[in-house]
Amino acid sequence: MEENRIIYADHAATTPVLPEVRDAMLPFFAERYGNPSSLHGDGLAARDAVEQGREEAASLIGASAEELFFTSSGTESSNTVLKGCAFAAMTGERRRILVSAVEHPSVLAAADALVPFGFAVERIPVDENGVVSLGVLAERIGADCLLVSVMHANNETGVIQPVKECARIAHGAGALFHTDAVQTVGHIPVDVGELDCDLLSFSGHKLGAPKGIGGLYVRKGTPVTPLLHGGSQERGMRSGTENVPYIVGLGAACLAAAEYLRSGEAAGTAALRDSVEGRLRSLGGCRVNGGGVPRVPGTLNLSFDGIGGESLMLMCDLYGLRISTGSACGMGKGDGISHVLRAMHLPDDVCGGTVRVSIGAGFTASDADAAVEIMSRCVEMLRDAAGKR
Ligand code: PLP
Repeated sequence: MEENRIIYADHAATTPVLPEVRDAMLPFFAERYGNPSSLHGDGLAARDAVEQGREEAASLIGASAEELFFTSSGTESSNTVLKGCAFAAMTGERRRILVSAVEHPSVLAAADALVPFGFAVERIPVDENGVVSLGVLAERIGADCLLVSVMHANNETGVIQPVKECARIAHGAGALFHTDAVQTVGHIPVDVGELDCDLLSFSGHKLGAPKGIGGLYVRKGTPVTPLLHGGSQERGMRSGTENVPYIVGLGAACLAAAEYLRSGEAAGTAALRDSVEGRLRSLGGCRVNGGGVPRVPGTLNLSFDGIGGESLMLMCDLYGLRISTGSACGMGKGDGISHVLRAMHLPDDVCGGTVRVSIGAGFTASDADAAVEIMSRCVEMLRDAAGKR
């Protein structure tokens, strides 16, 4: 194991800001600092930059610019969807919200927050691979359903959901359909027309833009009451002076992502992930969670018999390999067992031995070799220490 070498394999938690994104953003801090609402030259230049960013972001997901809104994060986008749709439907008959059991907390908690306002929230189960049950969704949907929210891909396992089919079921009952595409935008092709979603959330920091900028697609005519009122920026959907440098950064990241997807580089990411997976599997006592179904190219969720996932993650960290035990956002909550793995009916000891390895832009074959070497060594040491070999 090479000393002082850092191998970053936690891209599902966040990605480094791409150099071209940083370069595009820099002038908008101290030189081109106008307020896009100002009518003088500096304001108009800032407005142009915001609208260019909007075109670039909208184009990546096949939306029109007028349907794309900027927020502070994926969390804010999904909160706007859940609460905004509920507030808009407050006086209507549709009072049920269906969400998959493996949604990110930004969807689950936002939905639960609507219960005191008279909405019922139901969680749709997933199978052992983490794929949402279309049968149960079809059974539970009805004329009293307001909204169905099923994520495009899961943040812990990378498992891709049958979103198009979920949208069809939701629309068949006249409900709205939202997908949290934070883990897919920039990583696999995402097209709002193809997915037939009414609402879609994504986040800049998962695709090479900084933390603190999100995107929200709202199909024209979808009733959403804004959460923030004030100066009516973002055509009233999200008041507050626009974060011009970050919007420029998100636009640049979306351009880079479009090129990444066109170039076929994603296949290289999947091949590296598969090679890491194959070598770690050969250690024995290793299970790939969600391995039997389509996943995003860079994400791998593994459970090792006989050791704790947190111990493995911490030991790998000491050797310079950054991985995680699951979702960075869920750390330190509840009993420590992932709601995603639990929903997949994995026994507690399997859940407890789980880590997520997630790779992306800049991760090389040599990084993959080093990651496998470090993980193999750490698994061996932890199993030895526990007397499990
Ligand atoms: N949804 C999913 C699937 C995520 O993975 C994350 C972040 O990990 C979020 C939502 C939240 O995005 P943000 O960090 O921009 O709030």
